[in-house]
Amino acid sequence: MKIIFHGAAQEVGKSCIEVQTGGKRYIMDAGIKFTKNGAEYPKFLDRVFELDGVFLSHAHLDHSGALPLLEHKNLKCPIYCTNLTWKIVNLLLADNYHLEKLKHIHPAYVERDITKVKNDLHFVTYDKQYVTGDGKVKFTYLNSGHIPGGASILLELEGKKLLYTADINTEDTNLMIPSNLDEIQDIDILITENTYGNREHPGKDEEEKKFLEYVRETIKGGGSVLVPAFAVGRSQEVLILLEQLEEHIPIYLDGMARKVMTMVAESDDKYIDNRDAVARMMKRVRYIKKPTERDHIGKMKGIVIVTTSGMCQGGPVMTYLKHFVGRTENRVIMTGYQAAGTNGRYILEERTFKEHHHMYKVICDIQQVDFSAHYGQSEIRKMMTKINPAHLILQHGDISSLTESLEFAKENIDGEVYMPEIGEVMTFYEDE
Ligand SMILES: [Zn+2]
Repeated sequence: MKIIFHGAAQEVGKSCIEVQTGGKRYIMDAGIKFTKNGAEYPKFLDRVFELDGVFLSHAHLDHSGALPLLEHKNLKCPIYCTNLTWKIVNLLLADNYHLEKLKHIHPAYVERDITKVKNDLHFVTYDKQYVTGDGKVKFTYLNSGHIPGGASILLELEGKKLLYTADINTEDTNLMIPSNLDEIQDIDILITENTYGNREHPGKDEEEKKFLEYVRETIKGGGSVLVPAFAVGRSQEVLILLEQLEEHIPIYLDGMARKVMTMVAESDDKYIDNRDAVARMMKRVRYIKKPTERDHIGKMKGIVIVTTSGMCQGGPVMTYLKHFVGRTENRVIMTGYQAAGTNGRYILEERTFKEHHHMYKVICDIQQVDFSAHYGQSEIRKMMTKINPAHLILQHGDISSLTESLEFAKENIDGEVYMPEIGEVMTFYEDE
């Protein structure tokens, strides 16, 4: 078999892994990478019509954002994913398309290509083995513990087992039951993400305690709290945590998170934890229904606002920020990774942010807590040593993170270790 990385190789973004076996071509994920000028797409997109199947791991756009482009280029094969993944992808794709239009970026496809994705979907359920490719390729979707609907994918082909973890979390969170993939044995090829190959996550309990303390302290001091959070997963996790907050403190929810909340609360995904808490919080939070309310809410004291986008790159959070950052009694709490070049990173490091060519100075307090949906260094290492595959492929990480994992793996596993580049064609088991 041949494995080719069309993205997420020595980088994070545009995940897309091609697997060629017995004359068939498959891809695992079709993501985009956000750049200053819009989005980068995987480069393989010639002969898309020759693909035999697309295995989609989860809804995040760096894994799913190129699906409409595949349709634009005449995709003629099934796209496999869980039902909940599709519901979330559909929402994210539509939102991203409109955002690009607003920013006068020309999307690489037209709006109806998003609808075309729907026609090719084949829903899968977790832990059930499916067969494709004239009976020669078996695949199973396994819980990845990363976000609702998300999965790791186990392929069985040519008598070998290939496990693609995709984005994975083996640690407990408020929202997801953790992955137990490291229990799987006899894996021949393991492809795994390395977002945090060079970093440990702090303990969950301390971070949660810190978060609630920050909130209570601010409210007590007469200020309000703004929590920029990703719509999928993180917003729900934050709200589950905020259930512990005293009832009289108003919690406002704005942005796409509301729709995702409903999807999560209504889904029958067996790996979502605390669905009841999500449903309870749906009743407790106050929703912002009209954009015109934002200016008023943004000036209120003694409240908590949870809203998108998580890296302050657009969406309702921008209006709140403008009202928030000039008041010393207020606090903004970042709940996730802030990529270089984003407003979130500028706020943390330079205490400024920019919108519509206007620069804002940040005077309010800024804090950051680590609620990661990816496994950290120890868990990555535990996974690779426990599975001890014949071939370990490290991807979805920056160079320093990948290099640390690579060095560790070379010392600690029996098999071969690789850190492929984009476009590199890797051949396995062809001389057997
Ligand atoms: Zn992800």
